[in-house]
Amino acid sequence: MSDGTAQSSAPLWRVALPLPLPRLFDYRPAGDAAAGADDVGTRVRVPFGQRELVGVVADTGPADPDAPAAKPALARLDPEPLFHGELLESLRWLARYTHAPLGEVFATALPAPLRHGEPLADTHAWAWRLTEAGRTAREGLRAGRPQRLAERLHAGAADEDALDLHDPDWRAAARALAKRGLAERVAVPAAAIAAAPQPGPALNAEQQAAVDAILAAREGFAPMLLDGVTGSGKTEVYLAAIADCLARGRQALVLVPEIGLTPQTLARFRARLGVPVHALHSGLADGERARTWAACLRGEARVIVGTRSAVFLPMPQAGLIVIDEEHDASFKQLDGIRYHARDFALVRGKALDVPVLLGSATPSLESLRNAQAGRYAHLRLQQRAGAARPPRVRVVDVRKRPLDAGLSPELIDSVGRALDAGGQVLVFKNRRGYAPVLICHDCGWSAHCHRCSTPTQPTPMTVHGGGRRLQCHHCGARRPAPNACPDCGGLALQSQGAGTERIEEALAARFGQWPVLRIDRGTTQRRDALEQHLAQFGQAPGILVGTQMLAKGHDLPNLTLVAVVGIDEGLFSADFRAPEKLAQLLIQVAGRAGRADKAGEVLLQTHHPEHPLLSTLLAGGYAAFAEAELAQRELAGFPPYAHMALLRAEAKQTEAAEAFLRAARAALAEVGDASLELNGPVPAPMPRRAGYQRAQLILSAPERRALHAALDRALPAIHALPEARKVRWSLDVDPADL
Ligand code: ADP
Ligand code: ZN
Ligand code: ZN
Repeated sequence: MSDGTAQSSAPLWRVALPLPLPRLFDYRPAGDAAAGADDVGTRVRVPFGQRELVGVVADTGPADPDAPAAKPALARLDPEPLFHGELLESLRWLARYTHAPLGEVFATALPAPLRHGEPLADTHAWAWRLTEAGRTAREGLRAGRPQRLAERLHAGAADEDALDLHDPDWRAAARALAKRGLAERVAVPAAAIAAAPQPGPALNAEQQAAVDAILAAREGFAPMLLDGVTGSGKTEVYLAAIADCLARGRQALVLVPEIGLTPQTLARFRARLGVPVHALHSGLADGERARTWAACLRGEARVIVGTRSAVFLPMPQAGLIVIDEEHDASFKQLDGIRYHARDFALVRGKALDVPVLLGSATPSLESLRNAQAGRYAHLRLQQRAGAARPPRVRVVDVRKRPLDAGLSPELIDSVGRALDAGGQVLVFKNRRGYAPVLICHDCGWSAHCHRCSTPTQPTPMTVHGGGRRLQCHHCGARRPAPNACPDCGGLALQSQGAGTERIEEALAARFGQWPVLRIDRGTTQRRDALEQHLAQFGQAPGILVGTQMLAKGHDLPNLTLVAVVGIDEGLFSADFRAPEKLAQLLIQVAGRAGRADKAGEVLLQTHHPEHPLLSTLLAGGYAAFAEAELAQRELAGFPPYAHMALLRAEAKQTEAAEAFLRAARAALAEVGDASLELNGPVPAPMPRRAGYQRAQLILSAPERRALHAALDRALPAIHALPEARKVRWSLDVDPADL
């Protein structure tokens, strides 16, 4: 059949392409082969306009007689489907749930090299051995690196990891030998060699009961909430469940928050399980991610610990999914395909028919509600493991108190006492930089971002670099701080308020004899930098100043005082999830104190000591807070008692964004049932960002079904709106903030 042939009844490939268009594209199978069911889930290269794209065959079927003749695809890229069975069906579900094009969902699920059409990565390990010629020539070699390597290989072929230990510079020597035909590189099967697992501590009664419940449910889908106070030993429960999963010959997937995946965590898993543990996170090179993906698909990876995107890994022999810190905001993707890794993990667990274990000291209100309603098993750990005791919490009322860089005299005294007693101190402030605002004391001018603003005011630039630099935390804009006021020319410019930099400066001035270490995104860009900083800090007395990067991760057994400052803004935020986030943060930060056998103390400095959030949290802990907050959500009709979606639009002109949302609202109102509530267009929480005007339309309904039905029916019309061409718009189902 030649290119010009008009119609044919032979089935076509229906290809999902990574384009923002909610449809599939028909192509004739490459090489004029017959399209068949086994093509579904394979990647194909196709012509699209002037470009070539890599897509995935989503379906096959006869040509539409009214459509123009389908073009031929260029190539089928995979001998076997990359997506099949459970993963393929789960991704189709995700596309329907997020109302996103299937092709974009597939692209999100793949590491970059696979997305770009490269072959499935080789997961063999590489080894070196001597050739026949090498064995003969070995004894005659001149002393030196190549000769020493030849000696090493004479003892037997060695894999590259082992050679790294032999001599970090072995590669040059190996190349020299290979050039002379004396040694060669060979692929060997990936070593799944198990070391002897190290025993952990004997489980306490609560941990044992949790493990027993998990093992009893291991034969099928079973969602479980492991609700355990900080330091209660949740990780030991995960490890016991994973060990059982491995013993049954199954794969285990562990999802952790962005900042929770530390080398320390991986080392603990590796040592305790005695098998290689694959890590997947944003800090890995593309090739590394692609290899892990392939190792999962081939069933070679047995335990995978990863951040959000690891939820897309193929699990042909799945046995267990764990989501640690299930409440963590980093599980929600905020752009592109706006999925929630916890929620998608539950969907996959159901399709895979395996238990899904959600762990947290501060469960999300959604998960708590599911546990209360009996949809999840509720496993509780109420005691700290080992000898650790819960910390004492004290509220410091700072109204009318003199403050130094935002720190009260009581707080400073407590810091001094803790240091004198040989303890470590953590001062927590969730605002990095030197100061939140720069103002002119003469005329009242303040530095603000030229590209961003909130409903009431332009957003202030944060002062950095000890006062020399201004930076917008919303769009990233930077400029030098002026020496004189741009309005009045006066020299009375003052930094107002305190960020972590300024607190560090004030504490270093007072407690010069002790080390002061600041941990925030400014000092700790790289993933392993946090570990290195903390390792240098060691166990000796000293002060850590930091943002929520310090709220979890590394164990700090000598931390005896946690001082929390500047939480007051969080008490009065407009976002309906703000109280939940604040309560979680407070409990998690407080949980850092007194982890080992040392008693811990928590100081909470506030202008609002009588605020109900604080008093409930202090009197009844997170459970009491959650109960009160769930009651509020129910009254207000917020999740988990309602289901929401957000249609966002941005444009250079406010009018364009609003016109689009008004038209979208009309389309939704036409097809939605009476239970669908539409609110807006309203300005976004940050109505102007990076020079764009931003507005949103809020959809909500008591039942998920009503929300999705309206979206299914209205979205084709919304895509086709003439107003849509003048804006950037996106849909977010289950938005993280409003
Ligand atoms: P969580 O994740 O619940 O905050 P971890 O699992 O990190 O707690 O455990 C906290 C500390 O308690 C760790 O140092 C861990 O080794 C220790 N631990 C856990 N279980 C036990 C146990 N049964 N006996 C003694 N120590 C334990
Ligand atoms: Zn001025
Ligand atoms: Zn800005």
